[in-house]
Amino acid sequence: KFIVFEGVEGCGKTSQMRLCAEWLQSLGLSVVLTREPGGTELGVELRRLLLQKSADKPISEVTELLLYAADRAQHVAQELKPQLAQGKYVLCDRYIDSTIAYQGYGRGLDMSLIDQLNAIATGGLTSDITIWLDVDVEIGLARKRGENVGLDRIEQETITFHRLVQKGYADLAASSPSRIIRVDGSLSQEKVHKTIQDILSAFLTV
Ligand code: C5P
Ligand code: MG
Repeated sequence: KFIVFEGVEGCGKTSQMRLCAEWLQSLGLSVVLTREPGGTELGVELRRLLLQKSADKPISEVTELLLYAADRAQHVAQELKPQLAQGKYVLCDRYIDSTIAYQGYGRGLDMSLIDQLNAIATGGLTSDITIWLDVDVEIGLARKRGENVGLDRIEQETITFHRLVQKGYADLAASSPSRIIRVDGSLSQEKVHKTIQDILSAFLTV
């Protein structure tokens, strides 16, 4: 099963994915945790280039789109498809909806170009379920700042950019409510985890 977690900066994906993995493992399932960008050795290099903290190395918007697509193509071929073929439960931090939200809504790049690139990069691989952790962008960014590790290139974008990304997720969830499930990420970590457990239990009959 292919389970994707999506959301704006500081939405709590990382901690929820860890809790979810522990829970699925406790049920005796074989779980893989991975992420985009950076789910392969090549992807780790691409992630470093894409998310550097200094702004002295500009990346054009189309170049950025292509680098995320390259990361995904490698991830699908080298990691996602092989792990899924072995019957693993693959929990992935970001997938095609991040490209629609960040490069489509955030950067304003052409949606049909994005759809084409997503189709090429995924080779048709879609998630079984996508969980969108919905958190207000100001709250999410405040959480990030609180981590005191510095903000990456994208996190340093304007609040307007982050609001557009959030709008992207809201539109995606509204137009495909059975594919993308909204979870209120502003609740306590425990409550969010319980909600995700309920959703996955119903959808995956685990
Ligand atoms: O979720 P995480 O913060 O680890 O994601 C890495 C970063 O990559 C995020 O800051 C996100 O803004 C950025 N990203 C992006 N476009 C994508 C995927 C991720 O801008 N398609
Ligand atoms: Mg981030």
